[in-house]
Amino acid sequence: MESIYNKTIEELEEYFINKGEKKFKALQVFSWLYEKRVTSYQEMTNIKKDLLKEVEKDFSIDSVAIVNVERDKDVCKYLFKLKDGEHVEAVLMNHDYGNSLCVSSQVGCNMGCKFCESGRRKKVRNLETSEMVLQILAIEKDIGKRISHVVVMGIGEPFDNYENLIKFISIINHPKGIALGSRHITVSTCGIVPKIDAFSHFPLQVNLAISLHAPNNEIRNQIMPINKVYPLEKLIPSIKNYIQKTNRRVTFEYILLKNVNDSDACAHALAHLIRGMNCYVNLIPYNETNNIDFKRTNSIQINRFYDILKKENINVTKRREFGSKISAACGQLRSKKEES
Ligand code: SAH
Repeated sequence: MESIYNKTIEELEEYFINKGEKKFKALQVFSWLYEKRVTSYQEMTNIKKDLLKEVEKDFSIDSVAIVNVERDKDVCKYLFKLKDGEHVEAVLMNHDYGNSLCVSSQVGCNMGCKFCESGRRKKVRNLETSEMVLQILAIEKDIGKRISHVVVMGIGEPFDNYENLIKFISIINHPKGIALGSRHITVSTCGIVPKIDAFSHFPLQVNLAISLHAPNNEIRNQIMPINKVYPLEKLIPSIKNYIQKTNRRVTFEYILLKNVNDSDACAHALAHLIRGMNCYVNLIPYNETNNIDFKRTNSIQINRFYDILKKENINVTKRREFGSKISAACGQLRSKKEES
């Protein structure tokens, strides 16, 4: 049976209207699910019993099971078991500005980025909207607190699961839903151009991050197969168009890989590539994994790279490091329980 957490407010309104009911029933249901966090229809006491029986026949109130939790200082990695027995991970990080949750969007990933652990297992399936929403609900319940920021940077390519992603954002942003401010929601993509174009029409002001990781096609082709489909001459104009349409600043994520993309020349080329765009670069120290050969750039070269971008007048930050001890850092998440 379909999960009730798959449904946006608009979809529930349509559902009730089709039943000859008033559309505000949808808001009532939302409020029970997300404000009051009930887990059974019986608790929805302001909705008549007959109607609830029908809803119950159509939609389940389900959950995702937390089957393992690993903690390391300010980071907590959760392993979830989904209804078909598949697993995904989510990572909770405590920051001084609140806590942010990194959610997964697919079981496995087809993008095949050479440096990323998550992509070593091919995509098994997209997560349903509900499975993304429920990662948040389960963790909020576990910690007894609200999550203030959500980043869709876990396992999977969110723009390869676009429709479910859009519904997810709309549910978590809705004031009677999880009520997360749109500016507290970030989606990261490896650069699926048609979806960046589509996202430029999306009305909510969420943040977009692009996994760039190289200043030219030659290097990007080596490490990110998606670049052969959407090379930089397509990707960059589409991001420029996104910035122009939405008036939002984008983030370029750039992992520094030793002797691959971390030279001074790469820093200058990167500055040249993105000059004039409303953007900033987030430099990410590479998290090494046992299974992949890339090495982390040393901190001296990371600082040089940073300084060159600064001198080139590019906004740049270095990503604070989180969770590598428990393999909860960027690129270390997996969708297979046996291996985690
Ligand atoms: N598929 C999306 C969402 C995943 S986000 C995307 O590609 O953007 C995860 C981020 O971590 C991406 O920027 C990814 O490139 C980066 N990443 C992957 N492996 C990493 C590793 N081993 N160390 C540091 N960052 C990594």
